[in-house]
Amino acid sequence: MNEVILYTVLSLTGLGVLAAAIIYWVSKKFAVQEDERIDKLEEVLPATNCGGCGQPGCRAFAKAVVEAGTLEELHCPVGGNAVMKQVAAILGINAVERDPYIAVVRCSGSFEYRKKTNIYDGASSCKIAATLYSGDTGCAYGCLGMGDCVDVCDFEAMYMDEKTGLPVIIEDKCTACNACVKECPKDILELWPKGKKNKRIYVACLNEEKGSTARKECAVACSGCAKCFEACRYDAITVTNNLAAIDPEKCTLCLECVETCDVRNIITANIPDEKIKHATEHRIRLEERARKKKEEEKLAAQAAQQQNGDATAQA
Ligand code: SF4
Ligand code: SF4
Repeated sequence: MNEVILYTVLSLTGLGVLAAAIIYWVSKKFAVQEDERIDKLEEVLPATNCGGCGQPGCRAFAKAVVEAGTLEELHCPVGGNAVMKQVAAILGINAVERDPYIAVVRCSGSFEYRKKTNIYDGASSCKIAATLYSGDTGCAYGCLGMGDCVDVCDFEAMYMDEKTGLPVIIEDKCTACNACVKECPKDILELWPKGKKNKRIYVACLNEEKGSTARKECAVACSGCAKCFEACRYDAITVTNNLAAIDPEKCTLCLECVETCDVRNIITANIPDEKIKHATEHRIRLEERARKKKEEEKLAAQAAQQQNGDATAQA
């Protein structure tokens, strides 16, 4: 009996050793040699594995960069230009500088402006709520306020403001990793160029209803009145589906549009009120000049018409 056990143990051990040897040999023989630069790149990347670069983690980003051999299409928003310079140095290629971005909240409909029209008592998740209904206020475009965006932020760069019911981005913590943008079922969050000296403006509304309907739903909704569009001398504003939007590429931050919005839904960041006041005064002067010019042209045209009439009568 003891011999049977002994032989069984010995033969199983022998089989185990043989299998290990085969596995070792196969792993050596068919090993895929990874480019050693991938390890070096991984060391300089922020190791947040947030996916903000569009890859499923920092190592995947390092592999993608090595395969691409160029940084034209690849950028780590968390590491920013400083880290990308180190990446370029490891690869021996040119760095590509990008303007820093930040997440912005495109909804101003706080509790005070957007009254509740029904009660939701389901799971506290924007994603789940969005599959069930359009929200507990009249506005189907606004923030649902349950903070899914805050939950996915790995950088503690957001919080839900209890007074407004809206998320707030903490400027110096946001890495523009895009996690909140992807998470929000209402597309309330958007990555926006941080701007020179962190100055930027954007329209904080996504409501596409017609003016009076939009304002019934939310007292500060964009009504699509197009006053901002008319004020912008740089074609930076469009009004589509009753909703104004600013193109950050075209906006020169002249600020002349800001006070044309009667509900002040053109949000400014890091811009002193004094500058907005000066820009408004400048716009009013320009409008007055244009109005006078138009009047003079009209009078001149009327005078010319009168003269022509007199000449015809004399003939
Ligand atoms: S911004 Fe989007 S994810 Fe964040 S609380 Fe509002 S609806 Fe929810
Ligand atoms: S700040 Fe000036 S350039 Fe920018 S959108 Fe407003 S009016 Fe246009």
